[in-house]
Amino acid sequence: MTLQALLQTGADDAIAIAAPGRAPLDYRGLRALVAATTASLNAAGIGRNDRVAIVLPNGPEMATCFVACACAVGSAPLNPAYRADEFEFYLDDLQAKALIVEQGSQSPAVEAARKLGVQVIELVVADGAAAGQFTFSDLPAAPCGSGGPAQAEDVAMVLHTSGTTSKPKRVPLSGGNLVASAGQIAATLQFTPQDIGLNIMPLFHIHGLLAGLLAPLSAGSQVFCTPGFNALRFFKWMDEARPSWYTAVPTMHLAIASRGKHNADVLARHPLRFVRSSSAAMPPQLIGQIETMFKAPLIESYGMTEAAHQMASNPLPPLERKRGSVGRAGGPEIGIRGEDGGLLGAGEVGEVVIRGPSVTAGYENNPKANAEAFIDGWFRTGDQGMLDAEGYLSITGRLKEIINRGGEKVSPREIDEIMLDHMSVAQVIVFGAPHKRLGEEVAAMVVLHDGHDCSERELQQFVARRVAAYKVPKKILFVDELPKGATGKLQRIGLAQRIGLGFGSYVAGEL
Ligand code: AMP
Repeated sequence: MTLQALLQTGADDAIAIAAPGRAPLDYRGLRALVAATTASLNAAGIGRNDRVAIVLPNGPEMATCFVACACAVGSAPLNPAYRADEFEFYLDDLQAKALIVEQGSQSPAVEAARKLGVQVIELVVADGAAAGQFTFSDLPAAPCGSGGPAQAEDVAMVLHTSGTTSKPKRVPLSGGNLVASAGQIAATLQFTPQDIGLNIMPLFHIHGLLAGLLAPLSAGSQVFCTPGFNALRFFKWMDEARPSWYTAVPTMHLAIASRGKHNADVLARHPLRFVRSSSAAMPPQLIGQIETMFKAPLIESYGMTEAAHQMASNPLPPLERKRGSVGRAGGPEIGIRGEDGGLLGAGEVGEVVIRGPSVTAGYENNPKANAEAFIDGWFRTGDQGMLDAEGYLSITGRLKEIINRGGEKVSPREIDEIMLDHMSVAQVIVFGAPHKRLGEEVAAMVVLHDGHDCSERELQQFVARRVAAYKVPKKILFVDELPKGATGKLQRIGLAQRIGLGFGSYVAGEL
């Protein structure tokens, strides 16, 4: 099935996209927008499988622009918080044919596109337009090799994942991958056209794009698109959106839980069918707090970019949710692989491996990463876990080096390399340290060159000029020597624990 076909479920007059203070867009309007966008891109010589980067603020136009582009070309939503260097890397790596930004955008992405000769398309929103309704600025006409709606096997979306190397890996997802994942999430959560999702997730990350947007649209239900998470405005949005559910990362649930007491009236007015959490481990105590506050089940799921998000999920009642477990296979098949390569039985700990129709065909232009990641037809997640006798998966650890900062992933090697560019830095190791709210925070240990002096703040500012703020180490320790493990190698995983570094740990009730 193609993505366009996926959008046919919603009734013409049913609301597809809504937003604070805006008139809603119905499915008839959304489908017309998809057709018009396909025609505009094709007329400008941009067609199937061509890469189009999107840098837009979160909100209804980001949602519709992504959906419309994914139906026609290879869409590549990028984090608007990236710095110039990052945009240049991504636009170049994608071989982007165009970059879509809002009208008059001051984003450094525009400068990066101009430098690389990438066409810049401005997204124009008319005064009083329905939520998500847009047109493109005038584009020069050009012949299009392969136009019309994208086919299921075409690349519909390209995202990057932080890898074990310093450069992010390019993950192409076909229309078929996205359709399979959206359908599976919709089935897990039993979406109906009556549902209204309150989207607070960023729409450049797989979680928001699939669970927040495509899955509910596939069921003909409504998505209320906010400008992004804001714990103070969350309850106001609840009153306006009248949602039946929302999905978020644990850090957001924590901030929402801390304000629940003052918003009991709003909570009473809008009973939710369920709340969903994914992208990082949800502390069991917080699950309890959210369930009590919303009087609704908290459905914890386990997702990953390479699997087009959902891999496992706890089920809705009356089936059992298990705290501390990310649920049962919820899309791809799940196996636990032992060190000798064989699949392990229930109760045994090994690497979580997956296979199925939502899993990417492979990283682009990266045979080394593919050779490491795909084995005997399975994709290795780099997570360590265990299945119980009833097929519920628990994540017990991580074999890969990424830092999971409240759902945002940081590659420590990317930051190592930047810090090494500083004239005073001789050696560095970036690692994740436990953090009370975020789960993990970025930290670093640095050895300075003899006779050099440099403050934590100076190094942080040096990194912040090159990468988005969330990747900057919040704590930098200056040492005479980097700690080597028993094997003589630097070991990032578990380093914070070994040296006793942390930013507090989560305590129930103490928010
Ligand atoms: P991403 O590609 O950003 O979605 O990140 C995928 C990674 O996030 C997974 O490989 C896990 O390490 C982590 N992750 C996602 N969901 C969960 C969860 N429910 N519990 C623990 N870790 C999770």
